[in-house]
Amino acid sequence: MSCLFCKIIEGNIPSTSVFQDDLGYAFADLNPQAPVHVLIVPRKHIPSLNETGKDDRALLGHLLWAAAEVARKKELTNGYRIVVNTGEEGGQTMDHLHLHLLGGRDMTWPPG
Ligand code: AMP
Ligand code: ZN
Repeated sequence: MSCLFCKIIEGNIPSTSVFQDDLGYAFADLNPQAPVHVLIVPRKHIPSLNETGKDDRALLGHLLWAAAEVARKKELTNGYRIVVNTGEEGGQTMDHLHLHLLGGRDMTWPPG
């Protein structure tokens, strides 16, 4: 398995862990776009949101809950943004499903 995020989950590539449980792992983004920028990933290798199936519905809900847990832990009481870049036009560069949690500054809309 050549997936970088799988290697991070396995501990073979270092990361700054923020949250983990049996289904997911969250770690600081290497190139933060906000004062708080955390990636939440499933332990299961799923290339993108586009490759999820019916069996993944509970896992997807769990990841969203985990993102909210991290936001509470980071005390983002004024709000935050969750982003799931999907596919080439969606701006996805890492082919392992991940949620971005961005917070600690005002967000703009529409995103770039
Ligand atoms: P995306 O463009 O949505 O696929 O997001 C990929 C994210 O992974 C980017 O924000 C990168 O900064 C981040 N990233 C890439 N390599 C690493 C790494 N080794 N540790 C932490 N974050 C990483
Ligand atoms: Zn992977």
